[in-house]
Amino acid sequence: MVDVSMNMPRPIEAAWIIATGSEMLTSFRRDTNSIYITEKLNDLGIEVRGKTIVGDNHVELGNELRHALGRVDAVFLTGGLGPTEDDLTREVIAQVLETPLVEDVKIVDQIRARFSSRGLQMPDVNRRQALLPKGATLLPNPRGTAAGLWIHWRDKVIVALPGPPRELEPMFDESLWTRLRNRTRDMSLSRRVLRITGLAESQVEELTQPIYSRWQNKKPPIATSILATLGRIEIHLSVRTATETEGLALLDRAVQDLAQTLGSSLYSSDGRTLEQVVGDLLCARKWKIAVAESCTGGLISSRLTDVPGSSAYFEMGVVAYGNDTKIKRLAVPKLILNDHGAVSESVAAAMASGVRSNAGTELGIGVTGIAGPAGGTQEKPEGTVVFSVETPDRQEIRTMRFYGGRELVKYQASQFALDMVRRILEDRD
Ligand code: ATP
Repeated sequence: MVDVSMNMPRPIEAAWIIATGSEMLTSFRRDTNSIYITEKLNDLGIEVRGKTIVGDNHVELGNELRHALGRVDAVFLTGGLGPTEDDLTREVIAQVLETPLVEDVKIVDQIRARFSSRGLQMPDVNRRQALLPKGATLLPNPRGTAAGLWIHWRDKVIVALPGPPRELEPMFDESLWTRLRNRTRDMSLSRRVLRITGLAESQVEELTQPIYSRWQNKKPPIATSILATLGRIEIHLSVRTATETEGLALLDRAVQDLAQTLGSSLYSSDGRTLEQVVGDLLCARKWKIAVAESCTGGLISSRLTDVPGSSAYFEMGVVAYGNDTKIKRLAVPKLILNDHGAVSESVAAAMASGVRSNAGTELGIGVTGIAGPAGGTQEKPEGTVVFSVETPDRQEIRTMRFYGGRELVKYQASQFALDMVRRILEDRD
C-alpha cells in the first residue's frame, strides 16, 4: 500500500532512472531525459546508481521498478503518462505498490479545460490521465496534459515525469527541485572536468594513477573517471562534502596536483573547450587568426566560430581543397605543389603564409592531408596530415599520422591544429 505517514522519509542519496517507451529502444530516438535528470540530481548531491530503458511492456516495467526500489532511495520514471493504451506508468506503479488507482476529478476538469481552450472536446480516453495511484501528489504540467507524480512509499520516493523534454525539464525545475532539496542530506556534490590532448589514454592513466590512489583512502574520497575519445581525453573529478566551498577547495588542490603532472597537455580545467581556450588566448594578445584548410574541409574554422564572440579574432577561413584554389587564393607556388605534392610541409607552410597575408592577421594556419580511406601512398599513407602555424616571429610545421577513418582523422586534425595554436600562444612546447 502507498504509505504517506507510517515511515519517516529518509534522505535521498541514491537514485535510479527508468526511461519508458518502446521508441527509446529503436535507433530513431535517444533517451536524453535521463541525462538531464542525472545532471540535476548530481547538482543536488544525489548519486545515480543506475538507469534502465524499458519498452511499453507491463511486466518488464514492473520488474524494473521493483528492482530499482530494492536498491535506491528514489526512482525516477519518464514517459508513459499519456492517455493511450501503451502509456503504462500509472498502472504499473499502482500494481507494484499494491495500491488502487483513483480518479481525480480536478484533473479531468483541467484536461477538459485545456481541450476546450483550443475549441476541442476532450476525448474520453484522456480520463485515464486522471487515474492516480492513491496518495500520489501531482506535479503540475502547464505545457501538456500529463501531470507528473510524486509518491512517498515506505521510506522511498517514486517520481513519474512526462516523456517530452519540453514538459519534463520545466516540471523538474518548477515542481521537483525544492521537494528534492528538502529530502537530500545537506551534502553538496562538487565537480571539475579536466581536458587533455596530445596524450594517449594509457599515458594519462599511467601519469595520474599514483595521484588518484592517494585520494582514494582520504576522507572524503575524490571520485575520478576518464572519458576518452580520439584526440581528446577528459578526467572527471567529484567529491561530496558538507558545503560547496569545502568541495571546491578540495578539488582545486586535486586539479593542481594533476596539472603539475600533466603539464602542457592539460588545456582546460574550468570546462572550456579547446576552441574557447584558443579564442581567449587570441583575445588576450589582441591577435586575429585566419585558417587555410584542405583535408579538414572547414572544421577548424567551424569550431573556432562555434564560440560566441569569435568575430573579435576570427578573420577568414578558406577551404582550399583543389590545387587550383591553393594556387589562386593562397598563392601557393605551382612549382612547390608539383615538386612536393599537395600533402607536404612546404605546401602547408605556403598555405599558412598565404592565408595570413591575404587576411592581414597575426596568425595563420595551413592544414593539408589525406583523410582517407583512399588516396594514401606508401610514403604518405591515409591519415597523414601536415600542419603549419605562422605568426609574426615564428613558423611551426608538423607532420602527423592519425587513425580511425575519415571523420575521426578530420576531427583529430582539427584538434591538433587548434592545440598547436594554443601551445604557441601559451609559449609552451
Ligand atoms: P504524452 O502525454 O506526450 O504522451 P508521455 O509521458 O506519455 O507524454 P511518451 O508518450 O512516453 O510521453 O513520450 C512522448 C515523446 O517524448 C516521445 O515520442 C519522445 O519524443 C519524447 N520522449 C519520451 N521519453 C524520452 C526520453 N527518455 N528522452 C527524450 N525524449 C523522450
